[in-house]
Amino acid sequence: MGACAGGRRWSHSEVVHDVVVPSLWSDKAREIVRVLRETGDLRRLVRRFGDGNNSHPLIRSMVHNNIRREGPVVLAPMTLGSALRKALAVSPVEIINDIKTSCLRGRRGAGFPTGMNQNLLGRNILGKRGFHFDIRIQMGAGACVCGEETAMISSCEGHRGDPKNRPPFPAQKGYLGMPTTANIVETFCCVARILDDGPGWFSEIGTRGSTGTTLLSVSGDCSGPGVYEVPFGIPLSELLTIVGAEDAGAVQVGGPSDRMVSRAEFHRTICYDDLATGGSAMSFGPNRNILKIALKFLDFFVEESCGYCTPCRVGNVLMKQKLEQIIEGRGQIGDLEHLQEHGTTMKLTSRCGLGQTAARPVLTTLHAFRPVYETLLRKRPEEPCLASFDIRAAPQESEKLAGRASEVFAA
Ligand code: SF4
Repeated sequence: MGACAGGRRWSHSEVVHDVVVPSLWSDKAREIVRVLRETGDLRRLVRRFGDGNNSHPLIRSMVHNNIRREGPVVLAPMTLGSALRKALAVSPVEIINDIKTSCLRGRRGAGFPTGMNQNLLGRNILGKRGFHFDIRIQMGAGACVCGEETAMISSCEGHRGDPKNRPPFPAQKGYLGMPTTANIVETFCCVARILDDGPGWFSEIGTRGSTGTTLLSVSGDCSGPGVYEVPFGIPLSELLTIVGAEDAGAVQVGGPSDRMVSRAEFHRTICYDDLATGGSAMSFGPNRNILKIALKFLDFFVEESCGYCTPCRVGNVLMKQKLEQIIEGRGQIGDLEHLQEHGTTMKLTSRCGLGQTAARPVLTTLHAFRPVYETLLRKRPEEPCLASFDIRAAPQESEKLAGRASEVFAA
């Protein structure tokens, strides 16, 4: 129920008997037991609700948005319905032209509260006959792959959240066989802002190839974890200063399927043309074990692979085994090339985005931290036999089944 890393300790929320209990520390365990024994009502432990729309009487969620910096686009105050009024006053072609002029590019995963309870949804919106629009909020199945575009469409159709083969692409044949646009809420927020304040205003923020701002969920070894809205083009070093992670030794720009960069690359900028991020940045202090971090990410992908295609189902396991051997000092020089080739094969042959990007934690740490890998390899004396094969460990499972030990004659 509590977490402690890098000398820092965080509280978090847990679902206990269907009640979301916020601000939990490990020392709350006794209190939970006491409340359960005395009253059986865990709601007594809920002393505060989340902020923003999460605290709305209809939502009453305990989640805190932890927004640290509001930018001018996504998180800035907005007049409700204003963009929609402007959109209804012009033709669809004019709206599309405005979006093109703004150079808006689709944002990736980020969720935050959105207002409804104002006649901006439903039939004949704002009095425009025939303009019907509704929102249906559907819970995802929870697996990582369900965030993949076609798997998400499968979920919405009521099927198992499996990716679909492409082509046809969703824009041709998507939800229920109809042309579908799949975009995250953040992108639609940008569209509303462009309609309200104009494409010229929007395209002046950020860089030429990456206009506007982006939301970044920052976590890890830093003093200010939370959500930041920053303009595209911000140098990574500047972001690290803002979030209190000046001493970072490495940053995972994006989630597990993105890239790890070293201090030598902190001058690079966050934008589509340089460090394109999936909406998050994880900071790691100078004493963190980079290879163990990559191994954790691989663990995640082994768990999250849906198992449909071999490159991802088997590839993640093989990558993980090889990385474990290297960490344990049983790696050989050729193993680095093996990891590289294996990761490239997964990237080229996996069926969906999950498998195509799952090797990136290894491939990018191999690129940015190759000496760390090589140091572990060099510790091994030159041996003619396969160093990665552990003759004592290999028969252990069979020994357990047979109920007897093997004889190993080693020189
Ligand atoms: S790459 Fe293949 S196994 Fe991996 S999640 Fe996608 S479809 Fe499933």
